[in-house]
Amino acid sequence: MSENEKPQHFLQQIIRDDIAAGKVEKPITRFPPEPNGYLHIGHAKSICLNFGLAIQFKGACNLRFDDTNPEKEEDEYVRAIEEDVRWLGFEWEGSPLFASDYFDTLYQWARYLVERRLAYVCELDGDTMRQFRGTLTEPGKDSPYRDRPLDESLELLEQMRTGLIPEGRATLRARIDMASPNLNMRDPVLYRIKRVAHHRTGDKWNIYPSYDFAHGQEDAIEGVTHSICTLEFEDHRPLYDWFIEHLPVPSKPRQYEFARLNLSYTVTSKRKLKLLVDEGVVSGWDDPRMPTIAGLRRRGYSAAAIRQFCDMIGVTRSDSLVDVGMLEFAIRDHLNKTAPRAMCVLEPLKLIISNFEPGATEMMSAPVHPDQPASGSRQLPFTRELYIERSDFSEDTSLSRKKFKRLVMGEWVRLRSAYIIRADSVQRDSTGAISAVHCSLVPGTVGANPPEGVKPRGVIHWVSATHGQRATVNLYDRLFSDETPDAGDRDFTRHLNPESLLTVTDCWIEPGLEQAAPEQAFQFERIGYFVADRHAHSREHPVFNRTIGLKDSSDR
Ligand code: ATP
Ligand code: MG
Repeated sequence: MSENEKPQHFLQQIIRDDIAAGKVEKPITRFPPEPNGYLHIGHAKSICLNFGLAIQFKGACNLRFDDTNPEKEEDEYVRAIEEDVRWLGFEWEGSPLFASDYFDTLYQWARYLVERRLAYVCELDGDTMRQFRGTLTEPGKDSPYRDRPLDESLELLEQMRTGLIPEGRATLRARIDMASPNLNMRDPVLYRIKRVAHHRTGDKWNIYPSYDFAHGQEDAIEGVTHSICTLEFEDHRPLYDWFIEHLPVPSKPRQYEFARLNLSYTVTSKRKLKLLVDEGVVSGWDDPRMPTIAGLRRRGYSAAAIRQFCDMIGVTRSDSLVDVGMLEFAIRDHLNKTAPRAMCVLEPLKLIISNFEPGATEMMSAPVHPDQPASGSRQLPFTRELYIERSDFSEDTSLSRKKFKRLVMGEWVRLRSAYIIRADSVQRDSTGAISAVHCSLVPGTVGANPPEGVKPRGVIHWVSATHGQRATVNLYDRLFSDETPDAGDRDFTRHLNPESLLTVTDCWIEPGLEQAAPEQAFQFERIGYFVADRHAHSREHPVFNRTIGLKDSSDR
């Protein structure tokens, strides 16, 4: 379907209508992360939406760091966010922008409000201010400082700025309406004293604007036409509109809300994800179990699959819980179509082919991708000693052929892209465990049907014990075992899946796979989709991460 034929969501309709009505020529959107953590899959939805609209309607999308809260913000996060947005496949207009670049303007606008008796310095402490705020059913009470002379407010504001007033002793508040049914309109705080260095402005400021005071004005400064945010800010919209109405802003953005992404078995809150990092529950922000963009990337998710997922879930105004299975479907579908095939044995059991000459090698040919002949073939050395999965062999001859389509004592199985073999006897170690299975191959069965009387139970994968390479494989699973780990006030760390990571160090990969480039993805036949770890993988020490299992993990 072309972009024109696809049904359009409500924001696409709004922008299309605004352009048709001549209200906007070039729509400007923005993605405004606070640099207090790494971006997660919820942000990906917002990124795809904001950048996607800009592309579709030939507008522009800004990347703006909302860095108004110096306690929690760091340059590391700024760099990581830039990298993630680019990796997802988007480019912002011009250089990245920073709310902190507008601190001077915002301060001038704060003074502007004071001069018009639309703001005042309040000396109520936090608790009292909360009490005075009232509730949803009761109006608030005016602050005793509400009507102080404007010169006094201007003087105090200046003292707040220059660091003459200690933290917590004063705030700047808008003078709106303490009886408003909308609590956000009850004289909200515009500036707080924070004697904290900022990651960009250093010690210049002792006061910092509130999110509510900064956000809409930042949009106005940048000429944002469609300011898109999540539904929890719907109640703040009247306040944002009030600022825009009363300040000499250069443009008037309009705010539109959409439903945030909630994903099952996942938490999408930077604060909570940071806790997992700080407590060492995961190895870092890019741990492959994290729902961060960096984590998904390291897990083997492609940018295309994440964009596809965001497209699938759509954009609406009603909150819902999206099944994480949809995200898994998107990557599985993508990798099924694109990932080269390879063989890897996770739990090796040695086979000795008694009728194959020791020291000899026969090259077998296997397709790189079964549906794409153009992608060519790979050469697999077949030798006397091979590895198969321990779980692909059983001595139990009573196992039904339907249920166990693998190697059974005295019976045949096909080694994928190679010979049909029969298990003849087992060799045991001192503990009684099977250390090797002696087999014989059926001559003439490579790429050919078996002779009369030879009935293989199925097809299994294998790796040459002489030419294969040892590898480490990280088997990742969902990080949480509960569908809604942080619902309500629940302690989400109590719902961690104890089996979210199993590291296997004695795996065997087909020769050549050790040369995989970091981030290269493969389908390990019969096992799942894997990616060479971005950081840990090397030729000498191959490391692969499981992205996702195969849809159908049963024998085929
Ligand atoms: P968090 O709670 O994880 O810190 P946030 O909303 O505080 O998220 P910001 O950095 O302020 O994080 O978000 C940047 C943009 O991403 C905002 O426009 C926000 O609405 C959007 N966003 C954040 N989380 C989601 C989500 N789960 N679904 C859709 N958009 C989101
Ligand atoms: Mg936030």
